[in-house]
This record gives sequence, structure tokens and C-alpha cells, in this order.
Amino acid sequence: MSSVRSAPGSTSALRVANQQRVLDVLRGAVADVPADGTPSTAYTQAELARTTGLAPATVSNIVRELTGAGLAETTPGAGRRGSAVRLSAAAGTVAGIDFGHSHVAVAVGDLVGRVRRERRVPLEDPADHRGALALAAALLEELLEGEGPARHVALGLPAPVTDDVIRSAAIFPGWEGIDARAAAAQVLDAPVHVENDANLGALAEHRVGVARGHRSSVFVKISSGVGAGIVIDDQLLHGAGGSAGEIGHLTLDDQGPLCRCGSRGCLEAYTSVGTVLSMMAGQLPGASFDDVVAAARADNVSAQRALEDAGLHLGWGLASIVNLLNPAVVVVGGDMARAGSLILDSARIGLRRHALDAVALTPVVASELGERASLVGAVLLAAERTVLSVD
Ligand SMILES: [Zn+2]
Repeated sequence: MSSVRSAPGSTSALRVANQQRVLDVLRGAVADVPADGTPSTAYTQAELARTTGLAPATVSNIVRELTGAGLAETTPGAGRRGSAVRLSAAAGTVAGIDFGHSHVAVAVGDLVGRVRRERRVPLEDPADHRGALALAAALLEELLEGEGPARHVALGLPAPVTDDVIRSAAIFPGWEGIDARAAAAQVLDAPVHVENDANLGALAEHRVGVARGHRSSVFVKISSGVGAGIVIDDQLLHGAGGSAGEIGHLTLDDQGPLCRCGSRGCLEAYTSVGTVLSMMAGQLPGASFDDVVAAARADNVSAQRALEDAGLHLGWGLASIVNLLNPAVVVVGGDMARAGSLILDSARIGLRRHALDAVALTPVVASELGERASLVGAVLLAAERTVLSVD
């Protein structure tokens, strides 16, 4: 699996995919890490070839690359292919940062993308990109105490990102036109990769969350806004300019309510957290989203209806997505996922009502990683970029 923007089937995409297969097996090998941090299990190259289905010569090349870069270590055995390989516990650290409309979360992880430590704090003024980046840098420094610098950092932003730049002031004010990669690299002192937050969530659910084991999946993140990350044949879909997956701005009704993007009747205008809160403003003034969910669970029929309507519209939007892309599973994340079956049941009904028979029963499930999905995806991406930078 790779999020790398190379054509599927190209030599580099194949190389990355093969490398990931070997890393996936080795990641299993370090699942049992004793207190001293030294991985206890290892694989011979013959075992790696058997487990991954790759040719022994391919495995041998990949192992040479990984050991050359210090990512893996070998212990002597009978012959080159008999020597045991395991990931190096001391190979270094990567970091992920996830910015939202009201939070920043930072994590450090190892080179196979497992999160070691993380912190999430409220963001007073997300439009102040300099202040937000400085806060993230300070949090990262705390998390990295006692370790070397992060080898790579991946940064998630809640807006379409085209060549590291957010073009729309309406979606994430204060960041438009800023080269986020360059601005972040300045304060973080590491190579930075910028990615849309829903894409990172999709990567995380696909690799280590509820969509693992499927080759194609869609992750829909519903919080203040609605966005999607799309994985097709184990590759994140970026599109020509990097903004693929903006499901929130699918038009459901061209006479519908105005959307913050400037259009009318977008999915987001029916299904975001803000829409649910404004529907409930008369009945539960000042309520938070969790208050509305609690009211619905306590049989407040208006709260139930508001969430049900949001779910039906979500299902309607998802019908277009599953008709077009035929994913194995749709994962719903973001704040809205905390409503659980209150929104998922009606989303499934909306999907069945509007999708073709062949795909109408596509599973719609709650995110397994919850509010951590984008952060976990950022660490996975940073780890992948570190491994890829090895030549
Ligand atoms: Zn819109």
C-alpha cells in the first residue's frame, strides 16, 4: 500500500508495494517487543519470500536497501538467505501532525508507522497559521525529548491541498495561498509532507483500521466540514491537482441551502456537525454535538430526526460514490461518527435508496481509529516517506 503519487504499475509503484509487503511482515515480527526495546523475533529471507510471495532475489534487494538505511538489521545464519532479518528498534523516529478547525494533534512513531506517543490540544485561532505551526513544533519537541529529530514529518490539513497549498479561503481561512510544506519545514527542522486530513484518515483506516484487508475503501470525515479519502487498489486517489475526494461539495439540490463553498445544496450543507446544531438551535440552544447525541439517545425525537436527516443525506451522497468507485467498505469518521447508529442506520437506508443494486449493500461502518484517524495516518505517511527516501 502506498500513497505515493506514481502511476500504479510503474516501476517505482511496484517497488514501493513490494517494500511495503516486506515491511508489513517485519512489523508483525516486532509486535512482541520486550522491555529493553529489542525485537525478539525475526524472519529469514527465505521465510520473507514465502510469506510475501515475492521472489527471493526481490526480497534480498529490499532487505539490502532496508539494512543499508539502518531500518532493519540482520543476524548471521546459514548463508545470506538464512540470516535473520528484523526491524531495527533504534532506526529513528517519525512524526505526524493533524490540524483541525479547533485542535492540533501531534504524534511520534517508529519507522513502521506505529504511534509511540501523542498529544492533542485545543487550537485557539486556527487561522493564525504561524501560531498554529509554532504550537505544533513546541508539542513535537516535547514528545521527542531524549530522541533524535524526526526523520520525516507528515502534516494533515482540513482542506483540499494542491501542491502543498490550500487554494480556498472559504474552507480553511488563514492558510490559503501559503506553501504549508515550506512554512512547516522552517519551524519543524525536518522534511515535511502535506496531505489532506481525510486522505490521512483513509490511509490509516485502510492500513491499520477497520478497512484493513480490503484493496479499495472510502473514508468520509464529517466534522465542521465533510471530506473523503479514497483508496483504490491500495493507492490513495489524489486526482490531477490533489483535491480528489471532496464529497462534501457534491450537489444534492441546486436550489438547496447556501454552502460555505459558494454553491448551493452541497452534501455538507445537510450533513455537517454545524448543520445538525443549527437544526437544533431552537430546541437545544447552545448545545454541543455530543449534547444533541445524548438528547437523541434519551428519546428527544427532534434530535433523533436531525441526526437521521443528516444520515439520509449522507447515504444519498455515498450512493454516487459507491456507484462510481465500488469500494469494499465505506468508513465514517470525524465528530459525526460519535453518533454511531443514530447516523449510520439512516446512511445505510439513504445508500440503499439511491445506489445501484449491485453496490447498495456496501457496508457503511464507523471509524475504528476515531478522532485519531488522521494523526495515525500522518505517522504512517511519514514512516513511508522515510523508507522511500532510502535509495
Ligand atoms: Zn459546498
